[in-house]
Amino acid sequence: MAGTGRRAAIVGGSVGGLFAANLLARRGWDVRVFERAAGPLQSRGAGIAMHPELDAILTAAGALPAEAIAVRVDGRTAFGRDGQQLAHHARDQYLTAWSRVHQPLHAAFPPERHHAAREVVAIDATDGGAVLRFREGEPVEADVVVGADGVRSTVRALFAPEATPRYAGYVAWRGMVDEAALSAQFREKTFARFAFAFPGHGQFIGYPVAGADGSVEADRRRYNFLWYYPMDEGPALADLFTDDAGRLHDGAIPPALIRRSHLDAIQQEARERLPPAFLEPFEKAPQFLLQTVYDLESTRMAFGPVALLGDAAFVARPHLGVGVLKAAQDALALAESLDDGTPVAAGLAQYERTRLGPGRDAVRAARHLGAFIERRLEAPWSDPSLGLTPERVLELSASPPERAAVEDIQGGRP
Ligand SMILES: Cc1cc2nc3c(=O)[nH]c(=O)nc-3n(C[C@H](O)[C@H](O)[C@H](O)COP(=O)(O)OP(=O)(O)OC[C@H]3O[C@@H](n4cnc5c(N)ncnc54)[C@H](O)[C@@H]3O)c2cc1C
Repeated sequence: MAGTGRRAAIVGGSVGGLFAANLLARRGWDVRVFERAAGPLQSRGAGIAMHPELDAILTAAGALPAEAIAVRVDGRTAFGRDGQQLAHHARDQYLTAWSRVHQPLHAAFPPERHHAAREVVAIDATDGGAVLRFREGEPVEADVVVGADGVRSTVRALFAPEATPRYAGYVAWRGMVDEAALSAQFREKTFARFAFAFPGHGQFIGYPVAGADGSVEADRRRYNFLWYYPMDEGPALADLFTDDAGRLHDGAIPPALIRRSHLDAIQQEARERLPPAFLEPFEKAPQFLLQTVYDLESTRMAFGPVALLGDAAFVARPHLGVGVLKAAQDALALAESLDDGTPVAAGLAQYERTRLGPGRDAVRAARHLGAFIERRLEAPWSDPSLGLTPERVLELSASPPERAAVEDIQGGRP
């Protein structure tokens, strides 16, 4: 496509930033990505559930469709504390590793336009756009700036400091195990299921994902699991995210730095609380990811030539598995709003009008599904006013939120 001559600077080179970068570049924009991290982002995420709506955007961005990068499951199954099946919800869905989405998006974007180790610290509006300033390196001018810099967004802190993430009252312990390392019994009975277990203390989820080499063939895949684990805010939470050197890692701690005592404690918890079928992957995981779960709602996504996108704008608890889809949909709406030479400020205002509602809906629907953990209930159906049965939990968590559904559950919000 012929160049538009217009310059876009993307802050953040994770999935949201790369969706925006590829979609704008394919429309002729002169795009540069500035990422704070110096090295590859692979270790950042574990497994993710993909919704079918993501496929078209992946292809439009120059990446691969879901079937090439993900494992297909035909539904979700809920299990109680003792492992008995509570419900099954049939719905085809693809599950993959976060890196399998990130890598193709990264590969589709020209490497010379991708700048690692460039942390944005300030943005100054100019007559026709904005100037980005970095911790190190020369300032850069652009006609549009996209803040795709995640839940702790610097761009959001600069333009909408009132919007801050709120701790949901629980953390997520996550891990992955090679299929080949799992017992024949686990592989036969449990591996292929998208399983939701309610151990009476938070919520456990497990499902198959692509292998480390991207393979989705039998024996070469991995099993991904996640335990949403209640944890009060305060010294114990801070201690969990503090490494042996005494450094506190806010929100997510690198796997190698989680202290041995905390790993031992969660393994002990798993032995005491998890349905036995799910213990094996927990015990065999070579490492764990540990993240805090947040809600974040923004009231604005556009500020003249500057826009927020993905987790920088809205963070929904992961119960819907829509984080990547939401970032992709934001990126597509943003790129389309600037088509046909639309002036940047007008285009971004249109983008904001389109995407504020879906962002809000995702946060609220996910909060509803996680309310029982926040309120320390045994299961979502422990409080009938939440309106959640095992079937309903599976059904809601499988569908990206629609306005009608969100209105439907308002009465059950925490
Ligand atoms: C436990 C858990 C489970 C999840 N499960 C799913 C799932 O099943 N399905 C799903 O779709 N989503 C899931 N998600 C959510 C998903 O991971 C996120 O929504 C998605 O990664 C957001 O992408 P993003 O690009 O907006 O932000 P991020 O991935 O957070 O990326 C932000 C990037 O910006 C960079 N950056 C930050 N500040 C600066 C700066 N000042 N200058 C330059 N660069 C900067 C960061 O280094 C980072 O690379 C889950 C999340 C969690 C915590």
